Amino acid sequence: MGSLSAQLTSNPPLWLALMGLLGLTMGSFACVVVLRLPVRLMSQFGNTAGLPQANQPNDPNDSHRSRCPNCNHQLRWLDLIPVLSWLALRGQCAHCKQAISKLYIVLELLVCAWFMWCTYAVIAQPLTTLHPTATALAWSMWGTVLLCCLLIDARYMLLPDVLTLPLLAMGLLASATSLTPQSFQASCMSAGAAWLVLWTIAKCYHLTTNRHGMGQGDIKLFAALGAWQGLDALPWILLGASLAGTVVGAVSHHRKTAQTGTLTPTRATDLGLDAQAIAFGPYLVLCAMLYQVLIHLTRPLN
Ligand SMILES: [Zn+2]
Repeated sequence: MGSLSAQLTSNPPLWLALMGLLGLTMGSFACVVVLRLPVRLMSQFGNTAGLPQANQPNDPNDSHRSRCPNCNHQLRWLDLIPVLSWLALRGQCAHCKQAISKLYIVLELLVCAWFMWCTYAVIAQPLTTLHPTATALAWSMWGTVLLCCLLIDARYMLLPDVLTLPLLAMGLLASATSLTPQSFQASCMSAGAAWLVLWTIAKCYHLTTNRHGMGQGDIKLFAALGAWQGLDALPWILLGASLAGTVVGAVSHHRKTAQTGTLTPTRATDLGLDAQAIAFGPYLVLCAMLYQVLIHLTRPLN
């Protein structure tokens, strides 16, 4: 492992290329997570309201094989190669010719780009970390999990514990092994502070308006961001996410009421929230990733 790491760090182009390939593979895996995890969780809770018909869970015994979401045709391994399959099939299912969601290719390319950016960030400042390959890999995985959270929350208003809690644990572990800039104690403290701040905001909102404005998932996600990014990052992420969420929420509320005069039932109402409730997770994720990219311009990744 040590010699592989030394070989990679002495050959940046090879390292970047390998991380790009790994990113495509992880992006492909992220697609599976984004498409299947919420469906599985919601069928466990018996709440499939708001799911598109094609996404209703199939035979659970057969759920490990990839299928076309439209015709349910089982996919061959040739159809599952990141990006290349999508291009070869021209974005259509080989069986029913239905257009394949662009989500697949966009997410694969986004994760690939993130892996390469993290690697580049370490290459550009080689003296700032003791473990260059592990640091690049840890931050790459951080972004991948965040992108999964973003897409699942945007679509289903759901931030699964199975993503946010491991992300929190990974953040603490990364600080304990010096893959993030702050010490383990600082990482624990900022995770705790993040949890407390959002929990307090959610509680106050609930007490004053008697409505649920924020989910438990948002609180866990913010704590995970605290563990990874430290106390300094939290005010900026929260401020940015609140501003972006408020603006987008107001615009979409205005559009919906302008179209129909009233608010139509949405995924939010299915969950017992206000019809104008929006998912906060995507804004937290975007601001956290943007912060990490910006801060790197002035401060090392580690
Ligand atoms: Zn099909």
